[in-house]
Amino acid sequence: MTNLIEIKQLKKYFPIYRGVLLRRHVGDVRAVDGVDLSIQQSSTLGLVGESGCGKSTLGRCILRLIEPTEGKIIFDGRDITSLKSHELRDLRRDMQIVFQDPQASLNPRMAAGKIIGEPLDVFKLGDKSGRHEKINELMEMVGLDPAMASRYPHEFSGGQKQRIGVARALALNPKFIVCDEPVSALDVSIQAQIVNLMQELQEKLNLTFLFIAHDLSVVRHISDWIAVMYLGQIVELAPTEMFFANPSHPYTQVLLKSIPIPDPDAPAEYAPLKGDPPSPAAPPSGCRFHTRCPKRFEPCDKIPPVPVLIENNHTVACHLYSRGITK
Ligand code: SF4
Repeated sequence: MTNLIEIKQLKKYFPIYRGVLLRRHVGDVRAVDGVDLSIQQSSTLGLVGESGCGKSTLGRCILRLIEPTEGKIIFDGRDITSLKSHELRDLRRDMQIVFQDPQASLNPRMAAGKIIGEPLDVFKLGDKSGRHEKINELMEMVGLDPAMASRYPHEFSGGQKQRIGVARALALNPKFIVCDEPVSALDVSIQAQIVNLMQELQEKLNLTFLFIAHDLSVVRHISDWIAVMYLGQIVELAPTEMFFANPSHPYTQVLLKSIPIPDPDAPAEYAPLKGDPPSPAAPPSGCRFHTRCPKRFEPCDKIPPVPVLIENNHTVACHLYSRGITK
């Protein structure tokens, strides 16, 4: 299968300045720090990690909504890393985003139909009746009654608002969508409906997704591949089945134990991750996870681990594997 997205050594540093007049550059927040990833055509890569680990920044860098500091982004065989803003315009049609908070991402003063059709207006696609037809078609596609097109966002439930956000993202027939925690702000009962909708749309429209979440249980059913991110770096990457059959990085293992099991008779495996992640402005030396890792050993605080292949297509960045130690 061919890759729709390839990113190579991608970095995004946000500079920190001190002083009002002189504005001295005193450091950087290393939100994304040397990420290599690829996403195959018509597949979903689930990207998981705690809040603040750089997942959303990575998604926005791929879309060129924010400028990467270094690295390369190849989209559909074309290097888009240094395209100028006017060259990005056409690209916007192919790459879209669904935001986390449907409440905040929809203009409260615009009716649903207007929100969904806005990208068509911006790109001046079709005439009035053509746009009207397209809006109806998009609403049906995401499970909304087109008769609701004149209603305002506050008249919809959380799940319906997210369906409006999905319909808007689909308006320009994109190839690739960054789904930035699209279900995190929704009730658990609604989350599965939206995940199922995304899955159906993917099959129907041949879409490619980067699906960002902080919870592995959310991405499990929709993802073909899973990448785990910690403090700006990918620490484990594998096809979903292999990932869950053999979760290998100590951070992944702790993340899995942090998922509460809704069964009082289940074995007591639940063990939430302790402490907050260190600041990406001053990441720990060596392995960035060493300050919280239950398996750290001698070289971990000094030498940064590099990703190693532990089985076909399964990479892990941890000294336990690069040094052949199994614990
Ligand atoms: Fe833990 Fe060391 Fe592996 Fe980092 S390299 S995850 S500290 S064992």
